[in-house]
Amino acid sequence: MDTSESTKVPYTLANIKKCMCPKCPVQADSKCAMDKLDNLVKGLESSREREIPEPQNVPGIYCSTGKATCQDLNPEQQCICYTCAVWKEYNLGEGVPSMYFCQNGKAT
Ligand code: SF4
Ligand code: SF4
Repeated sequence: MDTSESTKVPYTLANIKKCMCPKCPVQADSKCAMDKLDNLVKGLESSREREIPEPQNVPGIYCSTGKATCQDLNPEQQCICYTCAVWKEYNLGEGVPSMYFCQNGKAT
């Protein structure tokens, strides 16, 4: 994660759990993202669930961490950030970028 600039959305387990990216059509056909999701779910279910996962292992919360590391996303599909509690809480619709953080980078 790039910590050199201010981050609007805190990278917390609570926000990771609210993130809608795992259900987003942009990632639905991404083997890379779905593999990360499988591992993330297993990790959260394990005894280490209090530990916050490394950002590069989380296929979501791009509004906090910046562009996706997976290269096989499909931005032709619809971003669903507007359905997310984090998006509403931090008024991300008013920022730039306002959506498609996986493509455009973190919210500022
Ligand atoms: S606003 Fe988008 S990127 Fe940020 S947590 Fe919600 S769904 Fe994920
Ligand atoms: S940032 Fe938006 S487009 Fe990208 S995966 Fe999350 S919900 Fe989908």
